[in-house]
Amino acid sequence: MKNSLLVLLLLSVHLTFANAIVWSKTGHRVTGELAQKHLSRKARKAIFKLLDGESLAKVSTFGDDIKADRKYKEFGAWHYVNFPADQKYADSEPSKYGDIMIGITTCISKVKDKNNAKEDRVFYLKLLVHLIGDLHQPMHVGRLEDKGGNDIQVQWFKRGTNLHRVWDSHMIDEYGMNYTELTASLPRLTKKQKKYIQQGTIYHWVEESQDIANRIYESVEIGENLSYRYNYVWWSTAEKQLQKGGLRLAKVLNDIFQ
Ligand SMILES: [Zn+2]
Repeated sequence: MKNSLLVLLLLSVHLTFANAIVWSKTGHRVTGELAQKHLSRKARKAIFKLLDGESLAKVSTFGDDIKADRKYKEFGAWHYVNFPADQKYADSEPSKYGDIMIGITTCISKVKDKNNAKEDRVFYLKLLVHLIGDLHQPMHVGRLEDKGGNDIQVQWFKRGTNLHRVWDSHMIDEYGMNYTELTASLPRLTKKQKKYIQQGTIYHWVEESQDIANRIYESVEIGENLSYRYNYVWWSTAEKQLQKGGLRLAKVLNDIFQ
C-alpha cells in the first residue's frame, strides 16, 4: 500500500513537471508558421535543405518532444529563465543549469557554423525554433520564487491549475483555433510595423517578456477563478506575443543564413 502511494505521488510530481513548461503545441506552431512566411530566399533554401523539407511549424515542438527522453535532460533548463522581478536579466545571478538565453545563443552559434555536422546543426536549429517561441511566452520569463507562475495556484473555468499553465495552454486552447487558422487570423501589419517588431536582440525581447510577466502577476489573486473575462482582457497580449515570436524567429534565421 505504502509503495503504491509512493508511486502515485512520484507520478503526480512527474506529471506536474512534465506539464509545467510547455507553451502549447499550437502556440509553437503559430510561431513556426509565421516565421516560415517571413524567411528570406536564402534562409528558406538553407533551412529546407537542413530539415529535409520539414516545415518550421512541424519542428517547432521538438524542444518539448525530446523531454520524454532522458538523454536530453541537460536541455531542460533552456526553455525558460526565472529571476527576481525587479532585476534585469543581465544583472541576475545566472542559473548553473543554463537558461533560455544561453540556450538561444548556443543554438545560433551551432547552426551558424558550417563545420558542424549536419545532424548537429539540425538538432540545434529545431531547438532554436522552439526556444524563440518560449521566449515570447511571458511566464517563461517569470520569478524564481514561484517558478514562473507554476507555484501560483488559480482556477481555469473552476478547475485547478496554475498561472504558468494558463499562459502555456489554457488561453490558446480556449481560443479554439488550430495553428493555421490562428496564424491567418493574426492582426494585419504593415512592412514598417513588422520591421519595428524585428528590431532589437534577444536581450531586449527578454525584458519585454519580463515586463508583461510582471503585469500578469499583478492581475491575479491566488486561487482566483479565471474564465471568459480573463481571455477577453489578455488575449490580445498573447496573440501579439505569438506574432512577435514568429516575426523575430524569421529575423534570427535570416541573420544566420545570410
Ligand atoms: Zn518549451
